[in-house]
Amino acid sequence: MRSLDRSIFLHVEKICFILINYVTNRLWSKYKFAKVMLGVSRNATISAIRGETGHVPILIRLASPLLKFVFRVSKMPLDSLVYKGYLDCLQMAQSSNMGWLSGVKELLDHVKNRTIWPCLLSHAKIDKPKMLCKQITSALMNEYIGTWKNIINNGISSSRRAQVDSSGGNKLRTYCTFKNSYHRENYLVMIKRKDIRRSLTRLRISAHNLMIETGRHLKLNIVDRVCPTCGVLEDELHFVTSCSMYEAARDTLYKHVINISPVFAYLTPQEKCMFLMNKGSSDFQIVTHLAAYVHDATELRIEYSLT
Ligand SMILES: [Zn+2]
Repeated sequence: MRSLDRSIFLHVEKICFILINYVTNRLWSKYKFAKVMLGVSRNATISAIRGETGHVPILIRLASPLLKFVFRVSKMPLDSLVYKGYLDCLQMAQSSNMGWLSGVKELLDHVKNRTIWPCLLSHAKIDKPKMLCKQITSALMNEYIGTWKNIINNGISSSRRAQVDSSGGNKLRTYCTFKNSYHRENYLVMIKRKDIRRSLTRLRISAHNLMIETGRHLKLNIVDRVCPTCGVLEDELHFVTSCSMYEAARDTLYKHVINISPVFAYLTPQEKCMFLMNKGSSDFQIVTHLAAYVHDATELRIEYSLT
């Protein structure tokens, strides 16, 4: 009776596991859900969305629970229904690469773990299972972040080659200069007003309406993507540090930032932009002033476009 209860419990657990996996994958499919929450268009770069949210793919998050589940089942009483079912799955995975345990085998092969699967096959004790789960999750995470860094730095992923424009420029050319680590950006929590937060996100991930991006869609050469007011390249650096359209708002921003960090006054425009993007994602005061500037300037830019 105890075995039967356990069997029912494990089956319910497995069904919940599959349902959660399905729902989460649907929600994060092509990051549509994240794009809606961030308030950016569906064409926004997925790698930048990942970088801003620090989202960890479901397959990596489930690796440890999945392995712990296998370890737990492998230690069940030999005469239990669950254990007998587990043995069938184990043989199926070994002989024909089928069944849910074949996924576990693939996972272990992928991370080049040569100890766990033989232990499962021979019903031997697995040493330090918690540490093994941590090591495997860490290996998956390192591989994932390595791929992500490669994509934002080179602007090339096999599925998103369209985001590299005709001039060979990387859509995330600015983003990769200040985004150095994979984590959820604090400003997403610090800034409560959705419209202000959205303006900052759009600027950071180049999902904005500056000429550097709108010119890409119009297939203009880089040299023709100029600011309508200043006649020079209108990119994120120009928008933040030098466009004459937002001088008054910028003066206010700079005064606040210099009060907080006097060294800011001596930085070059490029350094100022990097400083703001870096500090402007974690320092609450700078975040607040930067986001207000970006939002006001964005509104001005939209008004200008409409006139
Ligand atoms: Zn300008």
